[in-house]
Amino acid sequence: MKAAGEASLQWFDAHCHFDFDVFEGRREGDWAQASTAGVGGVMIPGVSRALTEALMKRPSQGWNQHCLAGLHPYWCHEHQPSDLDFLEQALKQLKSAAVGEAGLDVHLVKSGRVSLDTQWYWLLPQIELAEHLRLPLVLHVRGMHDELCSFLRRRRFTHGGLVHAFSGSEQQGRRWHELGFALGVGGAMTHPRAQRLRCTLQALPVESLLLETDSPDMAPAFTADQVNVPAMIPLYGAILARLRNMDSLSEIAQILQQNLYRIFPSLAVNSSENTFLNSLKD
Ligand SMILES: [Zn+2]
Repeated sequence: MKAAGEASLQWFDAHCHFDFDVFEGRREGDWAQASTAGVGGVMIPGVSRALTEALMKRPSQGWNQHCLAGLHPYWCHEHQPSDLDFLEQALKQLKSAAVGEAGLDVHLVKSGRVSLDTQWYWLLPQIELAEHLRLPLVLHVRGMHDELCSFLRRRRFTHGGLVHAFSGSEQQGRRWHELGFALGVGGAMTHPRAQRLRCTLQALPVESLLLETDSPDMAPAFTADQVNVPAMIPLYGAILARLRNMDSLSEIAQILQQNLYRIFPSLAVNSSENTFLNSLKD
């Protein structure tokens, strides 16, 4: 690995639930650690109306956060039809870079927690909102890659987005990439049993990848802290560079930044600003 230029590397955590309660009392310290490591910002997905409202009342205290609004399948038991109207307003007020986190999770079906019909009931209007507002989608997809990718392809969805915490096959990854989606890569690739995922990440086009922590979840194999933190991103960058036989961290950091701005064009426009703080001034 070359050291030249690495001091000025700029990383970004493309999926981080930095608003969750587990960060209370440690958020400032976790951000200071991330910032020192070269992480320039985090994208915080919306998962429910209540959590999005809480986030809108509590601006960043120094960290560069890009807040999204969405209705996550894990929170289906909380969602109300009126939340869809709220969602549209929240997306506009936040100047959200995407709609999400939304998606389909086969494990919720298998465990009897949420039926697939219920998950589609909340996902479909969010796809329509993304089309209406011309925004990308941030998707949570487990065991439903073929179905959802085919659905969006048939629908001619053209705004792309992020399939966060990607765990599908190389073929599924290529299909998402062809549809304009990036694949979120993080702690899962560090686990000893994730050989198939590491092979997939070696084979996919580097232009299809974005780094994310999914904090506080998906802690990497090499930490005892059960709370994952955005400071892990540069380590993930180094692991990804090694997997892809790239000998320069700055090269992969630059490619990942280009990917970020291609997938979320409004971040490129607002790259030197905090869109959430600015939205509060309006
Ligand atoms: Zn998430």
